[in-house]
Amino acid sequence: MKGETIMIEEIQPSFFRVEVPLPNSPLKFINSYVIRSSDRNLIIDTGLNRKECSDAMHSGLQQLDIDLAKTDFFITHLHADHFGLLSKLVTGTSQIFFNRPETELIEASGWWELMIAYAAKNGFPENELREAIQSHPGREFGSEWIPEMNILQDGDKIIAGNYCFECVSTPGHSMGHMCLYEPKKKILVAGDHILIDITPNIQCWSDEQNPLQDYLASLDKVNDMEIDLVLPGHRRLITDHKTRITELKEHHERRLREVQSILGNDPRTAFQVASRMTWDLDCDSWEEFPRAQKWFATGEAIAHLRYLQRKGFIVRKDEGRMTAFTLNELSPPDAKVPENIRHL
Ligand SMILES: [Zn+2]
Repeated sequence: MKGETIMIEEIQPSFFRVEVPLPNSPLKFINSYVIRSSDRNLIIDTGLNRKECSDAMHSGLQQLDIDLAKTDFFITHLHADHFGLLSKLVTGTSQIFFNRPETELIEASGWWELMIAYAAKNGFPENELREAIQSHPGREFGSEWIPEMNILQDGDKIIAGNYCFECVSTPGHSMGHMCLYEPKKKILVAGDHILIDITPNIQCWSDEQNPLQDYLASLDKVNDMEIDLVLPGHRRLITDHKTRITELKEHHERRLREVQSILGNDPRTAFQVASRMTWDLDCDSWEEFPRAQKWFATGEAIAHLRYLQRKGFIVRKDEGRMTAFTLNELSPPDAKVPENIRHL
């Protein structure tokens, strides 16, 4: 990154956005938010554990005159583009603020293996699984390191400089996702809960969870808040959060209807459903999809299938080691996901 200027924007006094590049990612960059204070600085989200991110972040922090020995961290969620670089930034005095569900996930070893087994059960071909996992950014640019976390709950407060943030638990994009809200400034630091131009990916990798249901509830929660400015984890800032939330809900309504229309009376696995869904990717066919994208697509298909199944629109048929789905014969033949899922 030498010689390249790092994009830094001062959003409020001593409150900065640092653009950290994400090479080869459609997300393009991650927004890391830095609050400078004479006491302790706070960095919100960090970047991937790779040189390009580390160079950009260090250069940005140098320009802002941030001393990492006097810096604490808040991470919105466990995904590698937010959490990965943390291991290269913390010092002996750093506090790391994080949510409980994902702390437990990180501390429990073996969750990758559980996800792999779950993907296979949902029809992901065994011969493609290894490659999919190897190219997963979480595997490639995450970190094995398990730090000591300072656990925050919904409603807890963090003070940084002149800002007093409230924690807003927003599960959906990930199971413990947490935003920070500054009520006096009406600013929401949103992580990947609300993004513009791109839709936050909602994936499901276990039988117990219903992440799309959680996500829609978390959108409603934020919709009702007084917000003038959303600071998202990627892309540009958002001034009208309600309009964007409506668009995101409409997106998932369309998705649910699409998944429902793909199913018939013959059982289909989530992988088969994913292969028939429409994806905004520059590929001519599902076969050409990069393996990692097939992985994300399958996780997203499972999230939508789970939601439809719990609402009774479709039924799950476990056949041997495989999980598949059909339309629910007991629901009326023309039963469709209503236009407004808010009322479901
Ligand atoms: Zn992200």
